[in-house]
Amino acid sequence: MRVLLSFVLVFAACSAADTTRVAGEASDNETVSVSMSLYILDDADGGTDSPLSSGREIAEIEAIAVLMNEIWAQAGIELDVKTVSRIDVPAEVLIDLGAGDTSSFLNAASAGTFMVPDPSIINGFYLGRIGTANGLTPLGTRIFFVADEPTVNDERVSSHEIGHIFGLHHVLDNSGQLMFSGTNGTELDAAEQSVARYSIEGILDGVR
Ligand SMILES: [Zn+2]
Repeated sequence: MRVLLSFVLVFAACSAADTTRVAGEASDNETVSVSMSLYILDDADGGTDSPLSSGREIAEIEAIAVLMNEIWAQAGIELDVKTVSRIDVPAEVLIDLGAGDTSSFLNAASAGTFMVPDPSIINGFYLGRIGTANGLTPLGTRIFFVADEPTVNDERVSSHEIGHIFGLHHVLDNSGQLMFSGTNGTELDAAEQSVARYSIEGILDGVR
């Protein structure tokens, strides 16, 4: 399936077929499952040898996804990986992303300038550089970006960005927590776990 990312951003919540709902409405003990696709961004004009293309490999991203699930398991949340693949995007989009500007990526995705195969509820993009950040989640979207060489663990950056997608804000007083900036902390406190699960249920129900 090849679908415009913009379609996914707006309508993903309505697509029950994309979603495995293990949870149901009730218990705090049941696992909530949300689909996730991960993509490596390459320079459409220069190929994988281009300095703009990510240096990552598919197997590396698959390994990151396993470790992300270990982090989110503490909240009873499963990130159900639908696809891990490479996609080609225009060089100018990668240049803008490299400067920390996500607008041309979002515009090009909306315009169908490049296609995202098998998008999920949550979609992550791995690329050479994203400004000076380890990772980034454009406000109000369910997509995140992770740089090739973050200053903290790959799975931690990726999981932190997903925390933002699940409605979590930064914590300022405990570097051991996932939502503290710039550390390898992975803890989620009880309130954060509740908020994240509540957010996912809202996404799956199409009300968030
Ligand atoms: Zn953050």
